[in-house]
Amino acid sequence: MPLYEYQCSGCDERFEALQRIGDDGKDLTCPACGKRKPNKVFSTFAAGSAAHGAPQGAAPAAPHSCQSGGFG
Ligand SMILES: [Zn+2]
Repeated sequence: MPLYEYQCSGCDERFEALQRIGDDGKDLTCPACGKRKPNKVFSTFAAGSAAHGAPQGAAPAAPHSCQSGGFG
């Protein structure tokens, strides 16, 4: 069985639990406070990455033509 990570909606406790595929963990309870229906936590690398934006201040690429010659 796969191991999923859950976060309690009451005390933000994070814990892992073995669940069957397709089980959403509604029957789980928080080991810290006993609150039911913890939120499933997805891979940490997928969350929070939005905080990193593209570096600002990058100069736009100027249209630079490298035409040489021109004098037939
Ligand atoms: Zn809790």
